[in-house]
Amino acid sequence: MRDTETLHAWDRRYFWHPFTQMQDYGDDDPWIIERAEGNYLYDMEGRRCLDAIASLWCNVHGHRHPRLDAALVEQLGKVAHSTALGASHPPAIRLAKALVEITPASLRHCFFSEDGAEAVEVAIKMAAQYWGNLGRPEKRLFLTLDNAYHGDTVGAVSVGGFPLFHGIYGHLLFPTLRLPSPYVLQWDACSGNPERATAAWLTTLESILKNQGGEIAALILEGGVQGAAGMLPFPPGILAGAQRLCQTYEVLLIVDEVATGFGRSGKLFACEWESVEPDLLALGKGLSGGYLPVAATLAAEHVFAAFLAPFGESRQFYYGHTYTANPLACAVALENLALFAEGAVLAALPDKIARLQAGLRRFSGQSWAGEVRQFGLMAAIPLRDPGTGAAYAYGDRVEYAVCRRARAMGVYSRPLGDLITVVPPLSVTATEIDTILSVLYAAMAEGRY
Ligand SMILES: *Cc1c(COP(=O)(O)O)cnc(C)c1O
Repeated sequence: MRDTETLHAWDRRYFWHPFTQMQDYGDDDPWIIERAEGNYLYDMEGRRCLDAIASLWCNVHGHRHPRLDAALVEQLGKVAHSTALGASHPPAIRLAKALVEITPASLRHCFFSEDGAEAVEVAIKMAAQYWGNLGRPEKRLFLTLDNAYHGDTVGAVSVGGFPLFHGIYGHLLFPTLRLPSPYVLQWDACSGNPERATAAWLTTLESILKNQGGEIAALILEGGVQGAAGMLPFPPGILAGAQRLCQTYEVLLIVDEVATGFGRSGKLFACEWESVEPDLLALGKGLSGGYLPVAATLAAEHVFAAFLAPFGESRQFYYGHTYTANPLACAVALENLALFAEGAVLAALPDKIARLQAGLRRFSGQSWAGEVRQFGLMAAIPLRDPGTGAAYAYGDRVEYAVCRRARAMGVYSRPLGDLITVVPPLSVTATEIDTILSVLYAAMAEGRY
């Protein structure tokens, strides 16, 4: 048994886990992952599980990829960290250049941070200061969506649309203007018709911009799917239409591709599906291949230019953290981009996405499953109480029981509300996709209590 039990005890006692009710933590066989290899995680007893959530949507090429490991070790032989405040180092310089070259053409400058929420915070502050620097301080409102998730820091929660967060932290948040979730609009008001939903959503957006555009700094949207809200894909035309209207009414467009960037959508960036060129783009999660915390906010030329002035005018962007642009993280991110540049990773995606789509069909019509949703190489299967056809009551934790059963069968997933999620590393094989789906099917079907 080695020291597994001691670690479990210390884990419950000392380690306060994120998004976790610590009163229950440990009652349901929590998992201590000791090592990983490729698409598999191993616990202290050497039990192996397929990583069906890519270590929370960030792993890209699998764990312990030889090239990523080597890039990290090589940089470690030079310097682990030195500040980016007014100084520089080769990995960050090269990574900034590479990101500008591969992201939509509007984006010309790269600002680093550590996590997705921060990449969004940076975009919010840049947009706010941009209008101030241009002498239009009245443009200070942010336009956001119901169901949006942009991270959990105070600024990112302000532009998010989760009632739970707004209930708990509402008094800390800045006010925003809100648009409906395009997915909800499509399925609640437009009978599932995507063209009608897009048209209705854009009409609402235009009327807000017409009336209040003079007070709005930016519109923020996720990259084609509301991921954390439950994989709610936008009907086509939302992003492109939003860009057109934002340009017309002089409002910045911020696209948050923290979840959708780096291949998740089937293209390197989801913006590419509709040739969208935002003013600001937030990246995180897959940027370092899932290795280390590094995030980036890419900015258009006009945004960057608004911050240029003689030093004494205080127009510089007042933001930066101790570990901003950490050299180890940047070195791994560069190698991650080198792997993408070779082409095979993206070329293999259409087949994997089709395989996932085909495999998901077996869930539809089951009494214990709701309507399956998919966006590229990410999917969610709603768990339903076959007795009532509705979701189980919040707090029943039936979803957790399903994921525990799946883990016992060798597949590691995590619930997202009432959803069982499939967000594997892009390196997942066709056979592994089949395994994930058949295990989840068995684990969910077994759950008919
Ligand atoms: C995960 C996520 C974030 C937050 O990223 P963190 O690294 O967890 O701070 C922001 N936006 C989207 C769309 C995300 O999926």
